[in-house]
Amino acid sequence: MLRRGAIAAIGAAALCLASAAITQAQPAAQSNVPRVRLVATGGTISNRNGGRLTAEELVKSMPGIDRYAQPEFEQFTNLASSELTLDQWVALSKRINELFRTDSGLAGVVVTSGTDTLEELAYFLDLTVRSEKPVVVVGSMRNPSTLGYEGAANLLEGFRVAAAPGARNKGVLVVLNDEINSAREATKTDALRLQTFQTRGYGLLGVVDSDRVVFYRDVVKRHTAKSEFDITGVTKLPRVDVIWVYQGADGDLIKAAVDAGAQGIVIAGAGAGATSGTQPAGITYALQKGAVVVSTTRTGSGRIAPQRGGGRGGPPAGATATGAAPPANPNNPNAALTPEERARRVAGEDLAPVKARLLLMMALTKTKDGAEIQRMFSEY
Ligand code: GLU
Repeated sequence: MLRRGAIAAIGAAALCLASAAITQAQPAAQSNVPRVRLVATGGTISNRNGGRLTAEELVKSMPGIDRYAQPEFEQFTNLASSELTLDQWVALSKRINELFRTDSGLAGVVVTSGTDTLEELAYFLDLTVRSEKPVVVVGSMRNPSTLGYEGAANLLEGFRVAAAPGARNKGVLVVLNDEINSAREATKTDALRLQTFQTRGYGLLGVVDSDRVVFYRDVVKRHTAKSEFDITGVTKLPRVDVIWVYQGADGDLIKAAVDAGAQGIVIAGAGAGATSGTQPAGITYALQKGAVVVSTTRTGSGRIAPQRGGGRGGPPAGATATGAAPPANPNNPNAALTPEERARRVAGEDLAPVKARLLLMMALTKTKDGAEIQRMFSEY
């Protein structure tokens, strides 16, 4: 049974966020189903014509929830996903960590988000929420004023997953359209369709069926409880920009990003990491200025291995400071690079460019050492 919440002041960590006042529900009464808390951030799932649904209204929209979970709620923000700032993301992660730290009886957390950048938020939480308990990110493609709104169904499924013992230690999960995907792997693949979230290459983690929540596989990469990233000490995420590769691309954009303060650049490369035009010179500039440059693929799936992604695109990604340098080539703009500079060219493995950006941001909160960052890319 849901209890009406009191208005509470946001925690000190989020004081800077005027828009992030939290409306909290009291812990639910004793019951034999798990307590699961909604932390609502907004998105289409809330975007009712004439006024957004609140966290409380969202929780009340789930008929039959009491069979699966005792719902609690808090309003973190009520914005489109792309309107949230990175500072708000940091505060959100701190808040979820705080919930798990201070409320040992809480079974899991559901986060509502707009779907546009949902996969980025979910992966950021995957890297920074240090708990084995489920964190499930949910959204919808149709808003509450649209015939066929699927938000309440997705939310109920999110609560069911967060309450399911099998969801523990699987990293942050994305639940929409009866399907469970890993935050690390899920991508929005369609601007409008309900089945937009897909895991290219690897497939679903599980499904939410009428009788039960079923998992078929695990994520073996490091995440959540096994993450080495500690968000409690982070006040500002380092700037990392993603630069797209296309025919005849100008390396000046890479230089401009570095000059504007980027500490990291993710190259969304062609195929297995190729660059084009004058981008190799831009990459050399970035490395010499101390930035870390990560190679990924713009294709949507596949892996960039260390020592690949070089070729015409600059020094080999993943070259280590002690590793052998490629043969000297007077036409190669990287010939002048030091071993340390070369080592800052890192291979992004199979991460999508926007997710490699998040891992690089978190990596840069700890180190600028290229070999160490390459290790992180091989483990997460
Ligand atoms: N689809 C938008 C998003 O990803 C939501 C629009 C809205 O909430 O206004 O956030």
